[in-house]
Amino acid sequence: MITKIIAENLIKKVREAIRAKNQIVIVSHVTPDGDAIGSSLALWHYLHRLGKNAHVIVPNGFPAFLSWMPGANEIVLYDRQRKKAERLFEEADLIFALDFNESNRVDKMENAFLSAPAPKVLIDHHLHPGDFAQIVISYPEISSTSEMVFRLICRLGHFDKVTLECAQCVLTGMMTDTGGFSYNSNHPEIYTIVAELIKLGVDKDEIYRRVFSTYSLDKLKLNAFSIYHKMKIFPEYKTAVILLTVKELEKFNYKPGDIEGIVNIPLSADGVVFSVLMREDTDKIKISFRSLGTFPANKVASDLFNGGGHLNAAGGESYTSLQASFKKLKTALPNYAELF
Ligand code: 5GP
Ligand code: MN
Repeated sequence: MITKIIAENLIKKVREAIRAKNQIVIVSHVTPDGDAIGSSLALWHYLHRLGKNAHVIVPNGFPAFLSWMPGANEIVLYDRQRKKAERLFEEADLIFALDFNESNRVDKMENAFLSAPAPKVLIDHHLHPGDFAQIVISYPEISSTSEMVFRLICRLGHFDKVTLECAQCVLTGMMTDTGGFSYNSNHPEIYTIVAELIKLGVDKDEIYRRVFSTYSLDKLKLNAFSIYHKMKIFPEYKTAVILLTVKELEKFNYKPGDIEGIVNIPLSADGVVFSVLMREDTDKIKISFRSLGTFPANKVASDLFNGGGHLNAAGGESYTSLQASFKKLKTALPNYAELF
C-alpha cells in the first residue's frame, strides 16, 4: 500500500481539470534531465491512454542517453520548433508544468508559457513553488517528479492505465533524480513503487545500463580529464571544484549530457562533502552543486549564483567570467565553514 501523500482536494481538482480538456500541453525545464523527460513522457503516455491530444514541449534538447525513451522523438523542442510550440501553447486548453518551481526555469519559452490562456497545473518537488499555476502539487519530500506523476495516476484510480512505456518513463525519472537510488532515496515507498513498475514489465537493469553505462568515449575521457587535470580540493572545507572552459569542452566534442554526472564524482572521495562544477556556456557560466548529508548545496546556489534546487543537488548561473565566478565561490567558502 502506498501512502496518500498528495492531498485529496488536489486529486479532485486535477480530475476535474483533465475531464473536459482535450488539447493538453506538458512543459518541463531548460536543459531537461531524466526526471524532466521521464515525468513529462509518463504523463504524456497516460493522457494518450485516456484518449487526450497531448504534447510535450521543452525549451531545448536533452542528452542522448534519454533518446531511447518511448515517446522521446515526439517531444517538441522550443528552440528548434518555435512556431509549432507557440501554436500548441495558444491552442492548449490545459497545461501541465513538471519538475520546476519558477517560471524562469523554462528559459526563453517563459513568455509563450506564461501568456498561454489555458489553466496551469504544477507538479513538482522543488522548494518554494511560484504562483504561476492554478493547481499546485508541490511535495519537496518526494525525490522525483516522476514518482509524483505515478502517485497521481494511481490516486486518480488509473493504475490499470499505466502502460509499460509509461512505467519505463517513471522509473527512468526516479532513477536519475536519485543517482541510481544512491542519494535522496531512503523512503521505503520508492521501492514499493519500483516493485510495481517491475511487475508491469519494466527491465530495471536495462534502464540503468541505458542511462548510466552508455558513455561515448569522448564523455568518458572528459570525465577523466575533469578529475585528473581540473579538480581543485579545499580540504579545510571538504570541497571540490572543477572548472571547464568552452575550449576544453570542444576538445572532447562536447554534447549536451556529457557534463552530467561529472559533478557527482568528487563526492566519492573520502572527505569531500561538497562538489561544484563550473562550466562556460555560450552566454553565461553554468554551475552545478552536489553535497552529502546536511550541507545545503541549494543555499550556496541561491546565496551566490542566483540559483536553487534541492539540499544535495542544486544549480545556478553567473554572468561574469569563469575565474571571477570561481573567486566568488572561494571567497565565500569560509562563510559556510560551520555547516561542513
Ligand atoms: P544540475 O546540476 O543537474 O543542472 O541541477 C541540479 C538541480 O538544481 C536541478 O534539478 C534543479 O533543481 C536545480 N537547478 C539547476 N540549475 C538551476 C538554476 O539555474 N536555478 C535554480 N533555481 N535551480 C537550478
Ligand atoms: Mn526532478
